[in-house]
Amino acid sequence: MGKQTAFISKGMNEAVQLPVESLSAQNWDVIIVGAGPAGSVAAIELAGMGHRVLLADREWFPRDKVCGDGLTPGAMRILRRLGIFDAVSRAGFHCSKMSLFSPAHVRIDVPGDYLAVRREILDHLIARKALAAGVAFVRGTADTLESQADGQARVRFREGHAVQTARCCLLATGGRLALAQRTGLVTQSVASGAAVRCYVRSSVPLDRLVVACERNILPGYAWIFPVEKDLFNVGCGRFMYGRNEPHINLRKVFHMFLDAFPLARLMLAQGQIETPLKGGVLRSGWQQAGPIARGPFLGMGEMIGTTSPYTGEGIGKAMQSGILSARLVHRCLLNDDMSGLQRYPGYLQQLGGFHYEGFQRTRKWFLNPWLVDFLARRINGSSYLYENFIAVLQEKNDPAQIFSCRGVWQSLWR
Ligand SMILES: Cc1cc2nc3c(=O)[nH]c(=O)nc-3n(C[C@H](O)[C@H](O)[C@H](O)COP(=O)(O)OP(=O)(O)OC[C@H]3O[C@@H](n4cnc5c(N)ncnc54)[C@H](O)[C@@H]3O)c2cc1C
Repeated sequence: MGKQTAFISKGMNEAVQLPVESLSAQNWDVIIVGAGPAGSVAAIELAGMGHRVLLADREWFPRDKVCGDGLTPGAMRILRRLGIFDAVSRAGFHCSKMSLFSPAHVRIDVPGDYLAVRREILDHLIARKALAAGVAFVRGTADTLESQADGQARVRFREGHAVQTARCCLLATGGRLALAQRTGLVTQSVASGAAVRCYVRSSVPLDRLVVACERNILPGYAWIFPVEKDLFNVGCGRFMYGRNEPHINLRKVFHMFLDAFPLARLMLAQGQIETPLKGGVLRSGWQQAGPIARGPFLGMGEMIGTTSPYTGEGIGKAMQSGILSARLVHRCLLNDDMSGLQRYPGYLQQLGGFHYEGFQRTRKWFLNPWLVDFLARRINGSSYLYENFIAVLQEKNDPAQIFSCRGVWQSLWR
């Protein structure tokens, strides 16, 4: 049933969805629109707590999703909790090293636990877990969301005529905002970043993830992530700091990276680009997104801006927001009081808001290649700065601890 995308995935062509047209009109506890990491994880949690859940996605799974495919330790923790980490790990590339390169190619090695897996596979495995948990998973494009007089959510799909209703409806439509905005959610539509990626097949051996802060990409970076034997996710992304940002052509910047970065040149000398270059937006700073809860509707994941403005990591954050939304919805359903949904913005603070603020304060530091080179050299030369830098990458420390005059000053003495 699933429309195959970039590649045929081994053992992944079984149907996990029914067409929404096959559903009669029904009343659910929760309807979830969008089966990316945010939507599917929320569905698993809610079904596990005993609720009747309808999960809908506009695409047939397995479906491709434009992404760097990199998972952070936080994302891996959630996959372990869901009991699918081993399957995900087997399907991807698991390693213990990441190398970061400054504009002048000063290298910082960051040991850790890293995993990269194609989203076509990751999202399919999570959705399959949702099915196993008892979720009804359909292929359907939600078109109209309305609040009924009794406070319930009413959802109409483009493909079917039967209207579905629920006590509550969670929206997790990723970078697509049209549906959310028609429902009165997420009034702030300026993206925080944009990124492009393709897959490259090459026989170059690589035992780590590589991130390159090339001069013409700042504030942003390019990456080379092995995802399978001889297959690499290669891309670049740039953060945008407001409406007045100069326009940069990411496609052009990407090809400049392929020409200039030694490892990328080597990869292409021993291989070839396997898929077209595709792009997408990143959304951060959910505190400024506008309403994220309205009547029986809650927003989650990229749509409301949960992605880290610092690293562009959005998979783990989307899953975390799914878990938090599910907990709140569960409580409201148990108490039979859906007005509690309006507490959602405060509840979401548990996502860890401090690094968003820290980033706002430090972002100017990433605009200047000279400063990034200087910091890279200092990080390699100071154990104090190096440890703090790793803690920032792991989101344990506020970035302002390093990317500040005080941080650099301290690094000179430790
Ligand atoms: C180029 C690029 C590279 C990235 N690299 C990384 C990375 O390496 N690591 C990382 O952690 N993050 C990365 N991100 C961010 C990450 O991809 C997102 O943060 C993450 O996918 C957000 O998950 P989500 O569940 O909120 O939304 P999505 O994964 O976008 O899922 C949304 C789903 O909603 C469905 N949908 C949309 N509208 C409707 C509708 N009307 N009805 C039904 N279904 C609908 C879509 O089909 C889709 O399946 C990257 C992003 C980009 C663009």
